[in-house]
Amino acid sequence: MESISVRNWPIGTTSIDPQGRDDESYPQQLVGIRQWLAALPQSSAILSFENNELSIIDGNERFLKAVRESQEKGAVGAQMAIELRDRIAKFVPTNRQSDSFEIRRDGKLGPEYFMCTIGRLPAVEGQPEYYLVTATDRTSERTIEKNLRRELLSDGLTALPNRTGFGEDIDDRLSNETWPESAQFGIIAIDLSRFSRVNESLGPMAGDELLITVAKRLKSSLRQGDVLARIGGNDFAIFARLNNGLSDALHIVQRIKESLSSPIRLSDLQIRVDCAIGCALSTSLDSDPDDIVRKAQAAVKIAKRSGKVEIYRNGVLKEAQRRFSIESRLRDALAQGGLTLAYQPLIHLQTGEITGFEALARWDDPELGNVSPVEFIAVAEESGLITSLGRWAAYEAAQALSRWDSKFGQPLSVGVNVNLSPIQMARDDVASMFEESLRYSGIAGARLTAEVTESAIVADPDKARKLLFALKDLQMPIAMDDFGTGFSNLASLHSLPIDILKIDRSFVSNMIEDRDKQVIVRTILSLAESLNLRVTAEGIETQELALALQKLGCWQGQGYHFARPMTEADAFDYWRARWNFETV
Ligand code: C2E
Ligand code: MG
Ligand code: MG
Repeated sequence: MESISVRNWPIGTTSIDPQGRDDESYPQQLVGIRQWLAALPQSSAILSFENNELSIIDGNERFLKAVRESQEKGAVGAQMAIELRDRIAKFVPTNRQSDSFEIRRDGKLGPEYFMCTIGRLPAVEGQPEYYLVTATDRTSERTIEKNLRRELLSDGLTALPNRTGFGEDIDDRLSNETWPESAQFGIIAIDLSRFSRVNESLGPMAGDELLITVAKRLKSSLRQGDVLARIGGNDFAIFARLNNGLSDALHIVQRIKESLSSPIRLSDLQIRVDCAIGCALSTSLDSDPDDIVRKAQAAVKIAKRSGKVEIYRNGVLKEAQRRFSIESRLRDALAQGGLTLAYQPLIHLQTGEITGFEALARWDDPELGNVSPVEFIAVAEESGLITSLGRWAAYEAAQALSRWDSKFGQPLSVGVNVNLSPIQMARDDVASMFEESLRYSGIAGARLTAEVTESAIVADPDKARKLLFALKDLQMPIAMDDFGTGFSNLASLHSLPIDILKIDRSFVSNMIEDRDKQVIVRTILSLAESLNLRVTAEGIETQELALALQKLGCWQGQGYHFARPMTEADAFDYWRARWNFETV
């Protein structure tokens, strides 16, 4: 065993005072070095290491002061001396000329760090080897580093770990805690659904306040040992140890829901927080946490659409990957004119006339093939591409009308319906979009109908109202699409400038067999009559349905029985072949 001796260490104060040292015994080759030692700005000393004993031969004032302090600290100081000795003992037998290392000791105000170097002094025959040791205090640099690192790993707003910090915390829990063999862990991803609307309508300060409150509430639903993080703008995630698999995870989900169930007060508003929740479970403790986080995020994406808590299943990630490739291909398609509009005739049920066409987006991608609008519109909404897609559709529909007019030599007696997404209505200036479409194409506003959905109105009634009135200023008719599937307030229908209700296909297509559906259709028709609205029935697939709806006094119909959506050129031919003498 090596020991710390001896002449100087650990030692009484007097014996380490260089003044008290007998000059006779001072190694001759070190005499010249003494001044250099005194001149060094950091703690420095010359040590010898003989017979496993470390001795201080000489040290500058800083070094000796540090040694004295160590001694006053007792065990803590000795700890540092022992560590230094062990390092030097390891260095001595190597052939290296120098070495450097860091030593940590507990100081009054927390840990202190010293960067130490050790170098061999030239050997002299018959003399022990001597080493020059220096120690530089690096405590303040290390503290700054630590603070920076903390900032790097945490979210400044909520003080929760961020995505990187989350990963580190998980690794830490998995490697430093004892877990039973059968334990699993789960990631619960939470997405605040309406957060961007709060930001848009109440401003970012309110958004921040909301996030802080939600973070606090989520924290209250954690059990000991669970980790909550903010892994994205409005995305939170929880790492949870699961002793009973899925049922533990669902238990936590239940607590999360309860914690967010009461409204949050923001200035003078009460906001109800909606969230989508997705979970993914590890198969064992060896599962890659990053992978589980990704899976939980894939599940939450599905939950955003389904409105239910979703647990990751194997196909889900594939679906997320498909959505990702749809998004990037769609971006290209929009930039390169890869989309087209198909036109489906709208038929006047009493006269059989073609009153117009609904413009429906179509996308045949070279790699993905034919992608259904139901799929790519959802991706466009989620990714924000919907604003450029919507603008393209409005310009294109108006241009198609003007091309038909010039082909025919005069304006056709038909209009075109353009679909608007609620997200597009929230994010884009839709009124000026239509104003431009009409101006660029020279089409009268009365020939371009906007199809809006109930959800757009429910989401932000004031904004929707302003927009609809602006469209009326352009003389545009307004249709409420998919009517009956949303939760619109009938009173708002009355006060909004809506002209047409389009009864959703789900009520129409099997109404002959289903009496309940028939009752709904009749109710909508009489509601429309009292509100002075016209009604279009969607999804008419048979003549029997067309006749039944005609009898009920429905104004207009659309469906495969009349025609499927078709190209711009076919739609023109369809119209020209039938205008004037069509019967239902
Ligand atoms: P929507 O606006 O309700 O359009 C009617 C949908 O019903 C169309 O589906 C149409 O092809 C389909 N359809 C029409 N008649 C029948 C029928 O008799 N039977 C059946 N089974 N289906 C019929 P499509 O083209 O797949 O479009 C689906 C949805 O995608 C549209 O529903 C609309 O919400 C959305 N969409 C399409 N193009 C656009 C667009 O340019 N912008 C926006 N925001 N949404 C669009
Ligand atoms: Mg529509
Ligand atoms: Mg519809």
